[in-house]
Amino acid sequence: MNTAFLGLGAIGRPMAARIAAAGFPLTVWNRTTERATKFASEHNAKQASTPAEAVRDADVVITCLSTSPDVRSLLDGPDGILAGIRDGAALVDCTSGDPATSREIAEALGAKNVAFMDAPVSGGVVGAEKGTLTVMIGGDAAVLERVRPVLDAFAGKIVHCGAIGAGDTVKAVNQAFLAIHLLCAAEGLATLVKEGVDPHRALEVINASSGRSNSSMNLIPERVLTRAFPRTFRLALLEKDIGIAAELARANRVPAPVTQLTADLFRVARGELGEVADHVEIFRMIEQWAGVEVK
Ligand code: NDP
Repeated sequence: MNTAFLGLGAIGRPMAARIAAAGFPLTVWNRTTERATKFASEHNAKQASTPAEAVRDADVVITCLSTSPDVRSLLDGPDGILAGIRDGAALVDCTSGDPATSREIAEALGAKNVAFMDAPVSGGVVGAEKGTLTVMIGGDAAVLERVRPVLDAFAGKIVHCGAIGAGDTVKAVNQAFLAIHLLCAAEGLATLVKEGVDPHRALEVINASSGRSNSSMNLIPERVLTRAFPRTFRLALLEKDIGIAAELARANRVPAPVTQLTADLFRVARGELGEVADHVEIFRMIEQWAGVEVK
């Protein structure tokens, strides 16, 4: 199967690297050209100068951009995906997207007999490097079976969640859990430090108790207590994700005050911490408000 990968960002890059390493013929495209040039020089991949050129020979096209509207923006025009993509190809969008825009994209591609699946991923940059990502799929199960060998290059688990948009929806709710856990942990640990409790000791208890989460078990010990705060997943993207979750709750008339409030707090944090801050740096905002560091 010929493949194309569009969007060599923090997570797209290691995903594409695994596709190349698995032996699939690969063509890459990235908006900032130098990133694609560097990737092609380091991996067994060709570089294309436009999205249309990237997808021309591909049976499976993978996109991994910031937002669904970013993916939508690559479809049209003489250099766009629709101008180049083959009849019968499949486009798998690994962006953490929004279901309404995914359905629009699916419709535009369907008119050219191209299948679409929303396929957001979870597991972070390390999971992408190791090939252990969880992939949540919205779309036709038969298309999933067709593209599965390519997804297997970076996936540890693939779950078919339902019709187009279902993958995006599950991802948004997962991200709401993450954002809420992080905020609540930041508030709780700041309080514990002010009470004079060593946060390492507190996490030893919490991680053997019912309040534990991926944040308490992995993110906080590795990134906050060490003060390392590596930048692997931008807070701006988590703000986008929880915004999608809040919007979905509202659209379905589900009272969701915790999700809405967390979305607002992440919007404030994005304003305060900027576009390049990592999601775990939400701790810095709470620490500043509390006048204490969790370390
Ligand atoms: P980055 O910000 O590192 O990279 C974003 C990528 O999208 C870059 O290749 C960027 O191009 C491209 N891009 C953005 N807007 C456009 C546009 N309008 N037209 C063309 N290209 C565009 O993000 P990540 O790689 O971290 O994330 C990508 C997706 O994966 C997001 O939806 C994110 O929520 C999700 N995700 C990320 C995880 C992580 O750990 N990082 C984990 C799970 C999901 P350029 O290089 O030119 O800026």
